[in-house]
Amino acid sequence: MSDARPLLEVNALKKHYPVKGGLLGGETAKVYAVDGVTFSIKRGETLSVVGESGCGKSTVGKTILRLTDPTDGEVFLDGERIDNLSAARLRPMRRRMQVVFQDPFSSLNPRMRVRDILAEPLVNFGLTRSRSEIDDRVAGLMDKVRLPRDAIGRFPHEFSGGQRQRIGIARALAPGADLIICDEAVSALDVSVKAQIVNLLSDLQDELGLALLFISHDLAIVEHLTHRVAVMYLGKIVELADRRTLFSTPHHPYTRALLSAVPVPDPTAKRDRMVLTGDVPSPINPPTGCRFHTRCPFAFDRCRTEEPMLRPIGDREHQSACHLDAVPATH
Ligand code: SF4
Repeated sequence: MSDARPLLEVNALKKHYPVKGGLLGGETAKVYAVDGVTFSIKRGETLSVVGESGCGKSTVGKTILRLTDPTDGEVFLDGERIDNLSAARLRPMRRRMQVVFQDPFSSLNPRMRVRDILAEPLVNFGLTRSRSEIDDRVAGLMDKVRLPRDAIGRFPHEFSGGQRQRIGIARALAPGADLIICDEAVSALDVSVKAQIVNLLSDLQDELGLALLFISHDLAIVEHLTHRVAVMYLGKIVELADRRTLFSTPHHPYTRALLSAVPVPDPTAKRDRMVLTGDVPSPINPPTGCRFHTRCPFAFDRCRTEEPMLRPIGDREHQSACHLDAVPATH
């Protein structure tokens, strides 16, 4: 992994959606989908964003890509601020950040052959001039994702789920992206196919120096491919750490609860048992203080009124947002 400056920097990013209703259809409330999220990713690095469904992790990805505009905050790609660019100025930056979605079947046009699916971004971004150049680039993309070149004449439905996801990855690579956002990209696949796609992503990262933002609810998969992990709960990052630290010494009670639900390969290995009860509260009216206090077995009075800030604990790179960090260990 490179030590260069971050390729992607996200500062205090917010995305609030208006809830409309009433007789006049005006705004009656807000969904606080993402509520002040800060992180960065270097070239050649994978940062995983994990959390339960509804925690805002997919909205983070969509907001970075400007598939939806942010409410507040800043996003920089390679030092250039992109959250406030006009559509015309955003276009060349879009070439550099691509997405792989969970369901390749719905994100690949069923009426297009693979050749045309892979040629489309090359043509749209003006990256090729001739038909022979397109054919060469498409063949190279098929090699990169380990699909046979002679499959370019087939339609998406003629491939397995794992192969379709390889086509999705090839399409993301086509315009020469530096950053790939994988939004639950392996969640729908069988276990063995998941591992193959994760290995492919790791190999491509090594070969091309890609930065990966890996959005997933599956901590077992994340453990195999990530360098760092950001744990989100109700629109906020509650813990951020390198992989080894997060999986060996998780700090935040929510992270510990998530990890305790992950099967341990070694049955003799010890892991805290902490069962999460109740559902994630609504992001329309999130709990006051610590948003996790309604489900946290360690909650005390301060948790219900004062929001804990994400701050370094121990190692400078390890951050957690919990009042337990600031009180004596008797709690
Ligand atoms: Fe639990 Fe309080 Fe820490 Fe929140 S701040 S995680 S409620 S102990």
